[in-house]
Order: sequence, then C-alpha cells, then structure tokens
Amino acid sequence: MADIIRLLPDHVANQIAAGEVVQRPSSVVKELMENAIDAGATDIQLIIKDGGKTLIQVVDNGKGMSGTDARLSFERHATSKIQKAEDLFNLNTKGFRGEALASIAAIAHVEMLTRTEDDEIGTKIKIEGSKIVTQEVVVAPKGTSMLVKNLFFNIPARRNFLKSDQVEYRHIADEFHRISLAHPQVAFNFYNNGSDVFQLPVNDFRKRIVHIFGRKTDEKLVPVEEETQVVKISGYIQKPEFAKKSRGEQFFFANNRFIKSPYLHHAILGAFEGLIRPGTHPGYFLNLEVDPGTIDINIHPTKTEVKFDDEHTLYAMLKSTVKHSLGQFNVVPALDFEQDQNLDTPYSYKNKQVDVPQVVVDSSFNPFETVKPSKGNSGGGSYSKPKVDGWENLYEGLETTVDNGVSHLEFESEVVNSSIFDDEKEVVEHSTTTFQMRKKYIITTIKSGMVVINQSRAHQRVLYENFLKNITIKEAISQQLLFPLTLAFSSSEIHILKEIKENLCTVGFVFGDITEEGVEISGVPVLVVESEVQMIMEQLISDFQQEVPGDSFSQSDMLAKTLAKTLSVKTGETLDEFSQVKLVNDLFACKETTLSPFNKKVYITVTENDIERKFI
Ligand code: ADP
Ligand code: MG
Repeated sequence: MADIIRLLPDHVANQIAAGEVVQRPSSVVKELMENAIDAGATDIQLIIKDGGKTLIQVVDNGKGMSGTDARLSFERHATSKIQKAEDLFNLNTKGFRGEALASIAAIAHVEMLTRTEDDEIGTKIKIEGSKIVTQEVVVAPKGTSMLVKNLFFNIPARRNFLKSDQVEYRHIADEFHRISLAHPQVAFNFYNNGSDVFQLPVNDFRKRIVHIFGRKTDEKLVPVEEETQVVKISGYIQKPEFAKKSRGEQFFFANNRFIKSPYLHHAILGAFEGLIRPGTHPGYFLNLEVDPGTIDINIHPTKTEVKFDDEHTLYAMLKSTVKHSLGQFNVVPALDFEQDQNLDTPYSYKNKQVDVPQVVVDSSFNPFETVKPSKGNSGGGSYSKPKVDGWENLYEGLETTVDNGVSHLEFESEVVNSSIFDDEKEVVEHSTTTFQMRKKYIITTIKSGMVVINQSRAHQRVLYENFLKNITIKEAISQQLLFPLTLAFSSSEIHILKEIKENLCTVGFVFGDITEEGVEISGVPVLVVESEVQMIMEQLISDFQQEVPGDSFSQSDMLAKTLAKTLSVKTGETLDEFSQVKLVNDLFACKETTLSPFNKKVYITVTENDIERKFI
C-alpha cells in the first residue's frame, strides 16, 4: 500500500490551532492585550466594532518589533518569551506558546504596525488567512498596533456560530475587566462602536476596581492582606451585605493573571458562610502572588485554569485570611465565642492599634411611634402570607391610575375556566376546599378525586402569564414610588439594563436617569415590593448576563420568567385559605396549567380509583 500520511500545510495547521486559541472575538482581545502587556506597554487602547466581529484593534506603546521580528511573530511557535523548556517553569509573561498571532492571522484579516524605540522607521504587515499580503516600511509611532478584521472570514461555520454583537461585546468587556484589573499600573482605554466605554488612568488596585465597577463600590470593599512564604494574598472582598444575586464580581489573579479556580472559590465561600443570604454570591478581587515555579499555567490553551503545587495550603490560607478580614473590619455580626480564634487566625495583632467602638444614637427614635407599614406591601399580587393581613387588599394597588400614561388598570375578577379538565369533563368546584400540605402543596378536590398542586410552580405560571400579557399588550401596571430609588450598578450591568429597559417599562418599571452614578427608578410593577427592587433588578441582570435572548420575544419571555420566578410564593410559605383558593382558581384560568414556565409539572391528580387501589 502506498504511504498515506502527509504533513498538514502550515495554513491548515494554523487554522486548526486557531480553533483552540480563538473561540470568539474576546479570545483575540485577550491575546492582543496580553501581548501588549508583555511588551511593557503603559498605555493600551482597545477599539472594537460590532462585538469584535468586524474590528478589533489593540494599540500599545510597548517595545515594538523590528521588521524581522514583526514578520516572524506570525509564525507558529514563534515567541520571544521562552528559549528552553525550563523557562516554562519560571514564567513572568502572559504568553509563551507563540501560537496566538499565527492563529489569529489564519482566520482573519490582520494589519500590524510596529516600531521599536531604536528604529527610526517602522513596519507594516498585512496578512490574510496566513498569507502575507504586503510588508512595507512606514512611519509609525513607537509600539504596536494590531488590527484584526473580519474574524473567521474563511470559516463560515465558525462565524455563524458567533452570538449576537451584544453577547460578544459582553465577553470582550469581561476580558477587558480581567486584564485591566490585573494591571492597574497600565492605563487603558476602551472604545466600542465609536463611543468610549472606559478611560482608566494608571491607578492603585482599589481605584481601578472603583473605576470599573462604579463609585458605589468603594464603600463595599474590605482590604485583604497576608504574606507567608508560600503566597502573598492581597486585594479586596466585598462586605457580606452587598453579596449579589449575580456572580459578576469575583476575580482571582495569580501573578497578575486572571484565573478560574472553583477550588479556591470554595475557600472564599467557606469564609463567607453564614454571613450572606442563600442564593447570593460574595464579591472579591484577590491577587495571589506565588513563586512562578510553583504554578502551572500550561494546562489549558487559553490559560485561565492553573495548577498550584500546594493547593491545600493555599485553600486554608485564603479561607482564614478572608475570614480574618471580615472579622477585623467588623463586618461579621457576632463573634463566635466557642470557636478557638487561634485556630482560625494565625496572626499576631500585638502591634495593631485598637479601634474604639463608636456608639451611634438615633436621637429621633420614639418608642411610641407606630411603625408605618412599608408601602407596596399592601398586597400586590403576592399570595398573602399570614403576616400580611387582608387578602381583600390584594389588588388594592391596582386601582391606582398612574398618570404618566403607562397604565390604567381595571381589574376584573377572573372567571374560573373550567375547560382545563375538559378531558375528564370536570370542574374545580367553586365551593372549593383547599388544604396546604407541608407549606409546599395545595390540595383540592375535583369530582373524580383530588389534585395536588405545587404552590410555587402554580404561582409562577400565574405570574408568568400575567407579565407576558402585560408586555405584549404594553399595559403595564405600575405603582409610583413615593421617593424615587437610586440604585447603584456596575457599568456592565448598566449596559444590560439599557438593553432591556424598554421591556422593563412594559411590565411597569419607570426609570429616571440611567447614569454611571446610579439608576433612578420611580415606579415598579404592582407586585414588586420596594425593598426588593434591587434584588429583582440584580436577578434580571444576572439572568440576562448568563443567557442573552436574541429576539425581542425571547427577551419578553425571559423577563416574564425571571419576574415570575422571583416574585412567586415559595415552598415554605404558609398560605391562608383565601389565598389557596385564589391560587387554585388563578392557575386554572391560565392558558397552560400543567407546566410551570420552566417546564416543571405544576400539579398531579389522584383519582378515586387510585385511592381505592391503595386500600386493596
Ligand atoms: P506569545 O505571546 O505566546 O509569545 P504570540 O503569537 O502572541 O506568542 O506573539 C509572538 C511574538 O510576537 C511574541 O513572543 C512577541 O515577541 C511578539 N509580539 C506580539 N505582540 C507584540 C506586541 N504588541 N509588542 C511587541 N511584541 C509583540
Ligand atoms: Mg501572546
């Protein structure tokens, strides 16, 4: 048989390698920005268009390249960063594989402009799909500009696989956050579709965090500092009361490189245990400095997963350091006297100054004043829990007509739609008796037996259909807040908020100014309690962050789902009899009754036959 093994041509090999290195526009951003940092740049500009699909440009003032180096840099395994295998164990640079530029040039139109300090004249190289189109000698500023256009122009399947511009933008913004946080000593600018998103001057770490995540972040930060032989830990954690529904603000950096480490993340969660509400996530920005020889960043091509030599020690140290910071800055509500402090906190405090605790007196406190019930708790549509008296008030808020034209509501009591049991020609009896079981199920009878309804899912279904209807007919039911709320969000959250604002208005949110300083909210949907607005907005943003709906229908759908999920009664809540009956009736007035908006079974039926069989 003839020999059949052949070496792949370079451009094919490069395309294959590109698949590993370049998953999406943000991968290009990461590689180019890291190269700029490795080149010693102190000023880096990132310019993108259309989520990076049409253009990504990174301009740096780093050391630049000679004409020969410029040409060589596009070869595979061409790197200036390691010379021998041992160098791999002592890395101080971001790159070392020498694959990035070769990969990017294999799947895009690339233009590089570069000049070193010593050269008077620079080099311009144009390269498309691994083929050099031109190489010229040109006038250029010191440093390097890399322009990457039409990503995946020669691999349509990959190009089609890219998500919407917004999603790709978000990935890029994430990458920008990571790199700019890891290098506060470098100035960064970020332009998206011609408008400037970030202008970050050289700063310390804390100011960099605040610049990126907004001014309100400052008060949330608690410093973390510890130095041992194994590791130097520094950075900030966020006070537990600011724990968020979304996971956005969690950053580990190892030797100035953003890393993902579920294991170390767990250490942080351990330190926060008992201090944050379930379902919320603590924020942290932590730098770990270790001997480069004790860390392996080689295990993943995109280099966010790393392996530390002594992970267990690191885990323990991280946990106790964070715990200690929480304690030291008085953010832990109470001391646990049973616990031996020395076990947890191997620190010496002898020389530290003691802060005298301050007593704050509320001079306006009057014990005889009756507390005004908080607005919005008057019922809305939440199935009343025992603490709220008067289910009759349930729709009280609905009678208000909001002047701003958003809404005008007339409430009709819903007729029970008996057709849901059409198959069996049965009807939920009007004089329904209901019974709540284990604060989770509502049990009611039908002619042939009984129905066991999952209260939370049923309510989700009811709310979901209601919200969806409101969005569709654009008839929001809004309650105006007495005092508009101003909530703080990070700039990427604000970006998402702006995207979904229109839909939020259709469900009853009324917005004032939306700026980096804060988001003003002057009206909320009737079902929303004022104190929960921040939580709900965070949930919405977090849902949209994780999964971005493409078209506007799915955006409405997602909004309705999130609101339904957040506002529904939960397992564990006691419902009074009236609420139980109302819930049953509302459920069976829905278009779809059997499944929750998340496709979970809402109820089961148990027929008399089923029961009888049990007695045999
Ligand atoms: P790596 O970063 O892994 O070495 P790359 O393909 O990203 O591989 O880059 C190849 C080489 O090109 C680098 O080692 C560096 O010498 C040079 N290079 C790339 N980008 C720049 C830049 N912005 N400034 C100066 N040199 C650069
Ligand atoms: Mg590189």
